[in-house]
Amino acid sequence: MQTTTASVPLCPVSSEDDPEQELLCIFGTGDLGRSLGQRLIQAGYRLVYGSRRPHSCGPLPPGTQVATSHEAAAQSAQLIFLCVHREHYDFLESLTPQLKGKVVVDVSNNLKRDLYPEANAEHLQRLIPGAHVVKAFNTLSAWALQNGPSDANRQVYLCGNRTEAKQAVAETATKLGFTVVDRGSLSAARELEDSPLQLFPDWRLPMRLTVGLTAFFFLYVVIRDVIYAYVEQRKDISFRIMVSLANKVFPIVSLIMLSLCYLPGIMAACLQLSRGTKYKRFPDWLDRWMLCRKQLGLVSLAFASLHVLYTLIIPIRYYVRYRLAAITISQIRENKTTAFDTTMAWRTDSYYSMGVLGFGLFLLLGISSLPSVSNILSWREFSFIQSKLGYLTLFICTFHTYLYGWDKFLHLASYKWFTPPSYMLCLIVPSAVLLLKMLLLLPCVDKRLTRIRQGWERADPEDGTRKSLLT
Ligand code: NAP
Repeated sequence: MQTTTASVPLCPVSSEDDPEQELLCIFGTGDLGRSLGQRLIQAGYRLVYGSRRPHSCGPLPPGTQVATSHEAAAQSAQLIFLCVHREHYDFLESLTPQLKGKVVVDVSNNLKRDLYPEANAEHLQRLIPGAHVVKAFNTLSAWALQNGPSDANRQVYLCGNRTEAKQAVAETATKLGFTVVDRGSLSAARELEDSPLQLFPDWRLPMRLTVGLTAFFFLYVVIRDVIYAYVEQRKDISFRIMVSLANKVFPIVSLIMLSLCYLPGIMAACLQLSRGTKYKRFPDWLDRWMLCRKQLGLVSLAFASLHVLYTLIIPIRYYVRYRLAAITISQIRENKTTAFDTTMAWRTDSYYSMGVLGFGLFLLLGISSLPSVSNILSWREFSFIQSKLGYLTLFICTFHTYLYGWDKFLHLASYKWFTPPSYMLCLIVPSAVLLLKMLLLLPCVDKRLTRIRQGWERADPEDGTRKSLLT
């Protein structure tokens, strides 16, 4: 590879440098140019910068050079990283002869989607048709590059029309410690440029559901508990909003969200059974729902954790300590004792025990969904944990809620203003999911579903009629 004689070594390369080390070029001495340069030098490359201001471009990674001009820098290396914003690409047109046959890496992103009619990388390829443009590194931030792949995103997505050019970029990225994901030709550049602009796309549906459910149940318990007490008994118990009511809403949302993780799987199974095939596409909404099950589960786990924390602070609450002291003092005054209620002891112990067990299993589900853990599990192990243990968790948490309610559903006083208690409402979805799952596990149903999932298809009676008409 030819190195330029026109380059100005502002920061001279040390004499120990191996002349066989590959020389790369970066256009632009801004944030990304400097971070990328630092990583390239650490990986053992020699580096020359192309800058508009070669003599005053600020501190650069030690061991790098700055060429006198972009032309000189372009001539010196085969691989050029273009760390310049798209709006400034026009200067490259004058470099067409120097860039002919060179690999130019477009790292650019835009501030908004669809800002330009074509992707930056495609626009660049049109400006310098003789060069081989590869889109890469745009999904990494300057900060991530500086910290290295161990601290940050490990993947470098790339795309380009020429295989050799992509290979050259892939080799460099691999030397920097990144895993390369080839996304095909330059027509994929738009997608790569859009990806850093996404704002939690997989979390939108779970977040909307969470906000909707939380708002609904919070309002419901405020009306039933606080407003009801004020209107009917002239009692102000609004202080209960902060802990008691919050601790009613969190487990409710958590249980519903957990059951919503399993409901789409059951719906899909019912659809497959009714259609008699697995080869027909599910409706889009069901596909989208199934794709966000992990997020639904994680939100549910977060709410279950809040429920645990709020439950732990119950004994130190002023209201609880006051009530306990008041009851004890009045019993002493009246010389009264309450008899030990074995049924109550069984009920509360079972209720707490199911809660602790359910939360323990829930944590296991959450841990096994972490990529670092799920990557070392076989598909069978993963589906055993997420499906079998998942249903067990749902069962235990639902049972925990039934134990909480116990026989309250028999008491008329529970139905304030003719509305059922919130825990009863929250049991509807999980109970339905568990019941449907039990039906799907019936041997005759399970056998048919397994056959369908192995590729068996029910003969379509319409097809048979058509065939007989043709023969
Ligand atoms: P920056 O800090 O503003 O640096 C851009 C550099 O471009 C400047 O330092 C300048 O270098 C050069 N430049 C500016 N105007 C120019 C012109 N008219 N003609 C030629 N060169 C010009 O921007 P950056 O953050 O490094 O981003 C550079 C590119 O990387 C952008 O396309 C951005 O979308 C992409 N990117 C950035 C990040 C990030 O975290 N920063 C992450 C991914 C992708 P000289 O003064 O040396 O000429």
